[in-house]
Amino acid sequence: MTMFFDSHIHTSFSADSEMRAEEALARAEEQGIGLVFTEHLDYDYPSAGKEQFIFDPEAYWTAYEPLRAAGNLSLGVEMGMMASARKKNAAFVQRVPFDFVLGSIHFLECKDLYYPETFAGREKAEMYHEYFIVMRDEIYAHPFIDALAHIDYIARNATFAHPEISYGDFADDIDAVLRALIETDTVIEINTRRLSAPRGIKELAPVCRRYRELGGHYVTIGSDAHVPQGIGRNYDRARELAHAFDLTVVTFRERKMQICEA
Ligand SMILES: [Zn+2]
Ligand SMILES: [Zn+2]
Repeated sequence: MTMFFDSHIHTSFSADSEMRAEEALARAEEQGIGLVFTEHLDYDYPSAGKEQFIFDPEAYWTAYEPLRAAGNLSLGVEMGMMASARKKNAAFVQRVPFDFVLGSIHFLECKDLYYPETFAGREKAEMYHEYFIVMRDEIYAHPFIDALAHIDYIARNATFAHPEISYGDFADDIDAVLRALIETDTVIEINTRRLSAPRGIKELAPVCRRYRELGGHYVTIGSDAHVPQGIGRNYDRARELAHAFDLTVVTFRERKMQICEA
């Protein structure tokens, strides 16, 4: 057993963060939690000419391994899952002894779900269906990931009037994703980004319940912080959500699951 960990944090090794490890750790210590750094690795990032979401794992290890020794920091990677990147992703995790590998879907048809233009001219039902199918396929194709990040990522920047991944509207698709997780021994992350609003909790609750019904037991909790103020945000809400559905909060160290306890 270990302390509670915020298992999704970006620092300056991620192209879109300038956070220093020391300031992240100071903020975590104030809250009595540990951290897992999960720097962005998105091979074949589609937007040519923009920043590259790739980092040097050896430099990462050299920089942060001394900080890792105390036990309240683990070192991971957030890996963009895409058909063209499968082999490169598998090779990348062998380069240093990562504690944790988090898998994400950030792109659809090679378009970045971060940008509003990705949603232009698309119809929500078919687009979200495609998102979940890709997610399911990439979970099976990446059996080496430990957890799936932000199942509701598509809702963050979608331009639809109702961007949520409402379980009732996508039950078969979401079930297929959850079954893929359970069959591959992959846990699900409760990403705390969308838990500031009651709506975010309401939409994620049935996903947690269904994950448990299908045989899931464990979740990681991640704030996806890119700045110190984001660390641990809504952590208690995520923990309550997990406990409401009989799910156990875990983190990973040396790729092994650790149960978190107060
Ligand atoms: Zn992400
Ligand atoms: Zn992230």
